Amino acid sequence: MADTLGDLTNVDMKVYPTNECKSNCHFCMTDLRWKNTEAPTEKYLSNFKKAFEDYFNAGGRKVLFTGGEPTNRPDKLIGMLKLISNYPLDLVVIYTSGVNLLTPYTHNSQEVTLLQALSGEGLKDYNLSVHHYELHKRQELTSQKVCDLESIVEEAKELDLNIRLNCTLMKDYIGNAQEVMKYVDYARSLGVQDIYFRDLFHLANRDRSCAHANKAKLAFTDSQRVDFDTLVSEIKLIPNMQFNETLNRHRENGRTYIFDHLGTRISFGTLVVGTEKEDEITYMNFQPDGCAYRDMNGPESKLDL
Ligand code: SF4
Repeated sequence: MADTLGDLTNVDMKVYPTNECKSNCHFCMTDLRWKNTEAPTEKYLSNFKKAFEDYFNAGGRKVLFTGGEPTNRPDKLIGMLKLISNYPLDLVVIYTSGVNLLTPYTHNSQEVTLLQALSGEGLKDYNLSVHHYELHKRQELTSQKVCDLESIVEEAKELDLNIRLNCTLMKDYIGNAQEVMKYVDYARSLGVQDIYFRDLFHLANRDRSCAHANKAKLAFTDSQRVDFDTLVSEIKLIPNMQFNETLNRHRENGRTYIFDHLGTRISFGTLVVGTEKEDEITYMNFQPDGCAYRDMNGPESKLDL
């Protein structure tokens, strides 16, 4: 018998076209969790259609494309955007390193950039992973040449897209209030007014949350995790920093603190992995194998749709 999804209002659908990513970041969450074999495009899209319709019918309204690097599979992305284009959703967003956004892509028989193609299919919200305001610090965290951020932001402005910078908080990078504000100044100099500072995941019940983890990346993550609550307290004391609200996310496993500083939206998010309940869906995880899972911990959380 198929699984009952329950009420998925306020539950995200996290969609992974692939786990592949050449960036190989030292702190990559994808490398801390179980990976499965990738389904070919046609099968993936047909399974996605069914899973998305089930998600939508259960009240879900937020689709997040993530990975791995989702833009490594542009045909899957374009196919999914077409499938969801007629549904009234609250949010459709991509999380990307940006490395492929300016590469050529043939779309509707025209040579455009991938960013133009995605925009043409209705994708307006882009969450770009940028983990430092200095290029060489960004580069030392990853194996692949980092994206040309300035050019992406320029093209996004021309296409009237929404850009948010996503910065992972790390002790030796952006890890205290002073560094946070330098980063904010850098984002503003690019014309970006929306920044999300993400805490490294807290990994509870490690026999469950870390069962499939790359040990070197797990050690790096543990060594770089900041004292998130203290940092947020310090941020509240910064002049002109207005605290707006706290959001609970992912069925109380995560919290986001949202501020405004002179017109810039600045958010701080933290998440515990490994405390998800087994009888409810924390995130509808649609994985590269073309199957849906109720959390990120392993094959045992697969949903029978
Ligand atoms: S860009 Fe993202 S998916 Fe790719 S290695 Fe870095 S953290 Fe992982």
